[in-house]
Amino acid sequence: MTVLRLVLGDQLDRNISSLTDLDRDADVVLMVEVTDEATYVPHHPKKIALILSAMRHFAAALEEEGARVDYVRLDGRGNTGSFTGEVDRAVKRHKPDRVVVTEPGEWRVEQDMKAWEEALGVPVEIRPDDRFLCSRAEFAAWAEGRKMFRMEHFYREMRKRTGILMDGDEPEGGAWNFDKENRKPLPKGLTAPEFDGVEPDAITSEVLALVAERFADNFGDLDGFRFPVTREQAFDLLDRFVAQGLERFGDYQDAMALGEPFLFHSLISPALNIGLLRPREVIERVEAAYRDGGAPLNAAEGYIRQILGWREYVRGIYWHAMPDYAQTNAFGADRPLPALYWTGETDMRCLAEVVGQTRREAYAHHIQRLMVTGCFALLIGADPAEVNEWYLAVYADAFEWVQLPNTHGMVLHADGGMLGSKPYAASGKYIDRMSDYCGNCRFDVKKTDGENACPFNALYWRFLDRHAERLRDNRRMSMIYRTWDRFDDDRRAAILKQADTFLETLS
Ligand code: FAD
Ligand code: SF4
Repeated sequence: MTVLRLVLGDQLDRNISSLTDLDRDADVVLMVEVTDEATYVPHHPKKIALILSAMRHFAAALEEEGARVDYVRLDGRGNTGSFTGEVDRAVKRHKPDRVVVTEPGEWRVEQDMKAWEEALGVPVEIRPDDRFLCSRAEFAAWAEGRKMFRMEHFYREMRKRTGILMDGDEPEGGAWNFDKENRKPLPKGLTAPEFDGVEPDAITSEVLALVAERFADNFGDLDGFRFPVTREQAFDLLDRFVAQGLERFGDYQDAMALGEPFLFHSLISPALNIGLLRPREVIERVEAAYRDGGAPLNAAEGYIRQILGWREYVRGIYWHAMPDYAQTNAFGADRPLPALYWTGETDMRCLAEVVGQTRREAYAHHIQRLMVTGCFALLIGADPAEVNEWYLAVYADAFEWVQLPNTHGMVLHADGGMLGSKPYAASGKYIDRMSDYCGNCRFDVKKTDGENACPFNALYWRFLDRHAERLRDNRRMSMIYRTWDRFDDDRRAAILKQADTFLETLS
């Protein structure tokens, strides 16, 4: 009895549900590099290289343990370029009794998979992805009957359910959340740990050559590729973070600094999302560091909340609300995404810095994505579909289940508030407080109108003014509307004109 076991490029975990009962003598593990997945958005070349190299390393490790692996390369003869086409060919090659696969991370791919049984004439078993701490069914049960979803409620539930950072029935340290301690700008003289990364080996070098040839026109630099591509390398990166970054992660997780792309962040999201690490083992390592005295509670809790809270929560929302979720557009935003997102060419130092860093590293940390490129897209009313495509393309860790709720929901509030209670709209003041960008910018962050006024400021008021009907009654925004109401008519008109003039130059 032969089972064909398909392993996708973001399922590189030896204990993934599709492989748990692998019979090395009888079964075939199928892994396929397909053009459809490499091109449905113009992915950053480093992201494509990461996935292909990690897949090839994973296949080699399986073969080393004696498994039969049928590996189809991107440039392999007869490659049809799609999952469906490649599973079809493999079924004809191996004549399996059934196909086994773990559920994918994208709604679109799951729709294809559900059609395979009928199309290919062979039983197809789609197993749950048990790498997450909250299954799709558990999230659905949590969501049932709730009028609104809030991450903080979900997170507390997850803490209680898993016992992570708990002291009996109470949260460790007497509070669920230490965020108030986690909003410090970077003090002068404090430097971040060096990130050397991993030297490409022969497998990675071969992949880099392929990507350089096939995807040369995509946004993003391939030079300086240094992501971990094996489980061991991913653990080394995690260890480096726990030893050198974690202690300061809490304090400076929202800070931004010129020329410092990584600060005290862990950089593990690409490894986590393709399966090289499991979320539970990352959390356990961080909790152990706290309990051994290696990290303060505000750092450990702040970090664990990102993984046990936000990561699980956004996945839950994605599967709960797709496919309608992606079609929502609560603010009716329809402005084409400005070219500067792809060129980095702008005098706005904050945007130039984050887009430039994204081009080089396929990485930006959370606050850069949320409060610089994200907030700007929100304020100018950029079309959610174009914004979503940009985020899905340019970051090495971008897979739709995690990217879409973050972009569409958290940043653009296009879901009308399903994921978060209010949009993260802010003036230039926030960026000035949390970074050194403004001090190095041609625009004056203290000015709202007139020559050289920071564009974020007038755009912020314009956004509030345009969406007053929807946002004015939001308890968390009423104070800012009171300030807007206190401006006299001339002042309001001058600010709105400033914003409109800027938007004209932008298009
Ligand atoms: P750290 O700051 O060290 O955080 C630790 C881990 O927590 C991350 O590795 C990640 O797994 C998890 N995490 C933190 N915040 C979130 C979050 N909001 N949602 C889910 N997981 C989170 N993350 C992705 O993995 N893929 C994406 O495509 C993605 N797109 C984003 C788009 C926008 C607009 C925003 C605002 C955030 C997005 N995030 C995404 C979340 C977050 O920015 C990244 O997970 C983080 O920057 C990765 O870097 P790190 O590993 O150094 O994270
Ligand atoms: Fe960005 Fe405005 Fe600061 Fe310039 S002044 S870096 S545009 S926030």
